[in-house]
Amino acid sequence: MLIAKTIAEARAAVAKLRAERHCIGLVPTMGAMHAGHLSLVRAARAHCDAVVATIFVNPAQFAPGEDFAKYPRIFEADCALLEAEGVDVVFAPEPAEMYPAGVTTVVEVAGISDRLDGASRPGHFRGVATVVAKLFNIVQPNHAFFGQKDAAQVAVLRQMVRDLNFNLELVVCPTVREPDGLALSSRNRYLSPEQRQQALVLNRALRRVEEKIAAGVIDAEPLIDLGLAVLADEPDVRLDYFRIVDPDTLEDVSDVSAGALVAVAAVVGPARLIDNAVIPPR
Ligand code: AMP
Repeated sequence: MLIAKTIAEARAAVAKLRAERHCIGLVPTMGAMHAGHLSLVRAARAHCDAVVATIFVNPAQFAPGEDFAKYPRIFEADCALLEAEGVDVVFAPEPAEMYPAGVTTVVEVAGISDRLDGASRPGHFRGVATVVAKLFNIVQPNHAFFGQKDAAQVAVLRQMVRDLNFNLELVVCPTVREPDGLALSSRNRYLSPEQRQQALVLNRALRRVEEKIAAGVIDAEPLIDLGLAVLADEPDVRLDYFRIVDPDTLEDVSDVSAGALVAVAAVVGPARLIDNAVIPPR
């Protein structure tokens, strides 16, 4: 496995892969690998002839006061896991490599970037779209793999790929969970055992809403009320949002009959956690 620290090294490594093999899969991450990340790598291996993973804690997607400085950085352990999964190239630049002095261009996916997490984290999706566009241009993958766990990110990036005519396919992989339902996240490391227990309420609220939908309730209002009632069981969990939205536009829907995304975000102790459930069309 080759580790590229500069854009020039990454481009050279990818050019070599492309000369030898047809299809290149890209898995962008911020590191602190868990089984969710590795599921993306496995999907990339299954779809593509070569896999490029990136590890970059992107300063542009963190607001002042968020966890950029304390975000877990365990580069050697991450590389060992990626190598064991058969990744061909890891691209792990420093911030100054991606954002040298004088860079002024950003990618703004208007409208959709202000919804869900974008409403609570202004500028977050501008940072995400900008760095992902740069990674797409550097690696020029045929397929790029993202997790359904970050459903709003998927919606923003789909729109960006469409609008900017990136010549690649986004592949969205299902959320990987702990046996008790907690969605895997690098930020779960921040939780004490008690907070980890409290965090289970996110998934519990989603499951209860899914059960109600399966029982025939389609109106968003009573479904949201149910989710909020379940979340209220854990007073130490500070709710950010619990919404039922169109998975493509992230706008609220009044019922789930055409398919919907039930999305939740909350702060548990030091961690802001998100989770969601995809409701298929009736
Ligand atoms: P991150 O390192 O948190 O930026 O995540 C990198 C990629 O892994 C993103 O596409 C995430 O959506 C995806 N991911 C994170 N957690 C999970 C999970 N529990 N299951 C599946 N994919 C995930």
